[in-house]
Amino acid sequence: MSPQSTLEVHRNRFGADGVSYQAPGRVNLIGEHTDTSEGFVMPAALDLRTISVLSPRSDSTANVYSVNFAEQVSLDLQHLPCRPRGHWSDYPTSVLWTLEQRGIHLDGFDLTLSGNVPLGSGLSSSASVEVAVAVAALAHAGTALPKPEIAKICQFSENHFVGAQSGIMDPFTSCCGVDHHALLIDCRSLDYEALPLPSEVLLVICNSMVKHSLAGGGEYNARRAEVQAGVRILQQHCPDIRALRDVTEAQLRRCQGEMPENIFRRCLHVVTENARVLQAAEALRSGDFQQFGRIMHEAHVSMRDNYAASCVETDLLVELAARQPGCFGARITGGGFGGCTVNLVAAEHSDKFVHNVRAGYEEATGIQAEIYRSRASAGAGPLLVGQT
Ligand code: ADP
Ligand code: MG
Repeated sequence: MSPQSTLEVHRNRFGADGVSYQAPGRVNLIGEHTDTSEGFVMPAALDLRTISVLSPRSDSTANVYSVNFAEQVSLDLQHLPCRPRGHWSDYPTSVLWTLEQRGIHLDGFDLTLSGNVPLGSGLSSSASVEVAVAVAALAHAGTALPKPEIAKICQFSENHFVGAQSGIMDPFTSCCGVDHHALLIDCRSLDYEALPLPSEVLLVICNSMVKHSLAGGGEYNARRAEVQAGVRILQQHCPDIRALRDVTEAQLRRCQGEMPENIFRRCLHVVTENARVLQAAEALRSGDFQQFGRIMHEAHVSMRDNYAASCVETDLLVELAARQPGCFGARITGGGFGGCTVNLVAAEHSDKFVHNVRAGYEEATGIQAEIYRSRASAGAGPLLVGQT
């Protein structure tokens, strides 16, 4: 829904003109499963986003309406729930709860949310909702915070209220995204650098529409446990190691004989992936998309063979993509075991790319992939009326 239409929905429902904000979803270009090892990631904010419209009330009620769910919830700001109830409103409530905990007092308001980030597809509609709520609520409270702080509030909300063990990358990218740039983020220090991704290069995201064992979280958590086991073995030799971020490939190989093969391979993925993110950053600095694409492919192979977190459907999408003219690189993105692939595609070839990948995937699997095209976009902020 356009910003204009969201404003109108808000006016019709709440009888007041509101102020509009937006917060984007994100895709990770490279750096998979490195954030939990305090390493490097390289996401970009998308031009898919959640819009929030807020107008003040004279009592202490917060009414939140979601256009996507066509549903409204009412919250008493003096007695906010302190537990999730497995409902979309957990995400906005979690942010209000965290703000209250940080001593940021909110007077009553009406809020409308409307988003075009696909829900539950790994493009972080959840972070985009949280950040859209946070920027609107903070402006309403008259509190200005640095964007990385807003990201931390949203991560805290999702971890401690909603109960999802998500990392800082999603809300950070939604807050700090830069138009026509990817972000190189150091997940230990939260230092970041914007790297150019000009509009001739599109981010094409192919949703395999399958979700394997990750749904229950079992495999995902098993991988994390294997990495942690690897770190404990490495620490016996080098007590200074805090996380795999501190380990070189040579160091890891020296300890290979002391760890089971599966643990070695999971660690090898993370250690080499950190190195790949830094190489990929260098490629973007020099505008070398061919090189960037080659590194993306290596990252996919490592996710598949070492981290064992790909699946036939995402492997097929990557294979189909690699055959298309104008495709610089393709890889699985997100937690793994299904979900989406991210592709870097020359804009002039993107129509054909989308057509061919969709057709090839459907022919082989019978599944219709959803494919989204986006440019790297700006992070959260106020939305001017009339802006699209
Ligand atoms: P992802 O972040 O990958 O999209 P999640 O499961 O983490 O998937 O978050 C999706 C959830 O976020 C939705 O089920 C819903 O509860 C909430 N959400 C996302 N967009 C909206 C929206 N526009 N309005 C209300 N809730 C939303
Ligand atoms: Mg999410």
